[in-house]
Amino acid sequence: MMKYWIETFGCQMNVLDSEVMAGLLTKMGYEKAKSPEEADIILINTCTVRQKPDEKVFAYLGEFAKIKQKKPSLILGVTGCMAQRESEIIKAKAPYVDLLLGPRSIHRLPNLLQVIQEQRRFAEYLDLYDDPVPPDLVIRNSDIFAYVTVIHGCNKKCTFCAVPTARGPEKSVPPEIVLEQVKQLIDLGYKEIILLGQNVNAYGHDLNTGKKVDLAWLLEQIDKIAAPEKVRIRFTTNHPNHMTDRLIEAMANLESVCEHIHLPVQSGDNEVLRRMWRGYTVERYLSIIEKLRAKVPNIAIATDVIVGFPGETEEQFRNTIKLMEQVEFDQAFMFAFSPRPNTLAATLPDQISETVKKRRLQELIALQNEIQKRKNQKEVEQVLEVLVEGPSEKNPRKLSGRTRTNKTVVFEGSQDLKGKLVYVNTNKAYLWGFEGQLVGKADSEPEPKMELLAVI
Ligand code: SF4
Repeated sequence: MMKYWIETFGCQMNVLDSEVMAGLLTKMGYEKAKSPEEADIILINTCTVRQKPDEKVFAYLGEFAKIKQKKPSLILGVTGCMAQRESEIIKAKAPYVDLLLGPRSIHRLPNLLQVIQEQRRFAEYLDLYDDPVPPDLVIRNSDIFAYVTVIHGCNKKCTFCAVPTARGPEKSVPPEIVLEQVKQLIDLGYKEIILLGQNVNAYGHDLNTGKKVDLAWLLEQIDKIAAPEKVRIRFTTNHPNHMTDRLIEAMANLESVCEHIHLPVQSGDNEVLRRMWRGYTVERYLSIIEKLRAKVPNIAIATDVIVGFPGETEEQFRNTIKLMEQVEFDQAFMFAFSPRPNTLAATLPDQISETVKKRRLQELIALQNEIQKRKNQKEVEQVLEVLVEGPSEKNPRKLSGRTRTNKTVVFEGSQDLKGKLVYVNTNKAYLWGFEGQLVGKADSEPEPKMELLAVI
């Protein structure tokens, strides 16, 4: 049996792309290797959102090159966003690489392997405008939650971002294909489905169906099959400019759609947002947060923030601090600006020094940690619905799962609760979530949406 090894960097879309590539290799007769040394093909599925992942990829390539020296028949490939954007750099720095494949063309992996094996030569496919083909076999990492891509690429032009030149323009997956994938996953017993897109809430604008097809409509169709099976639905990631009232209503009314949203703000200063080409103001962003909290009580809001964007003054940074204090996010992914090659922001004057960026990032993280702990503390001695994912990484003798608000809960319970919805009374809060005590199983008729917590 030929064996494969896939190393995955980056976001959930890359995780799914790796699961799809594993499916393609399995159909070709490969099986998963226990280690890179055992593999006949090694793929590094790359991310290029910041400098660090790039450096890591070359470190891994160096290690895999040593294996290839001992085993010349080994096929070494680089896929994903870095392959698409930095193919010439990869070829120059790692001439022993046999394959380069862009994120829009992973369905072409078997063809490339055929070329490499039959013609014993390098092969690449890097087409930003390629039409992705929906997968039919996906080797998933989890048997509890699963990702489904609903829209590829991004039409935005945020000046700091590499995604549009890595994943190409937006292309929605036809709804009948999405619904079929969701149905199959529910039939397979999956308990949570996460709809993916760089701009998932832009879904449908490019579809020519003769009817209003957007994410709100898609969620309504999915809810019809998910809610009766108590399957949870999430969607990520969103752009504020596509947070329509219809979508907020759908979040408020559809049973299966979780009370959790990831809505990157990136900065709390209008001038910085303008230079980022984000296309909204702080006031507009705050009005969306207000609507979400009014319509979806207890909603958990996560965000992305960049500090140290070129030209960001101390005062502008303070505006970001003010926004974080005002919104009090449940979770935030915070980064120091990392200039990406071939992006406008990388060429802007007034690049901020690493020292200042580091200090601002540390200050922001300290603030967010304090907010997050305080917010979680308010949910102690509450009964929360938890989807059990399995043994806790923090304490393998205990179980771990997530709430509908995407917070982690660790508690004692028997392993056969895996994949089940249970009720846990929280008794200790942490930055990452809660510890608690099992108080019941949710295998009875669901209670009306929000009254549940109040009743118990
Ligand atoms: S919307 Fe997101 S993915 Fe698209 S360019 Fe902006 S930051 Fe990048």
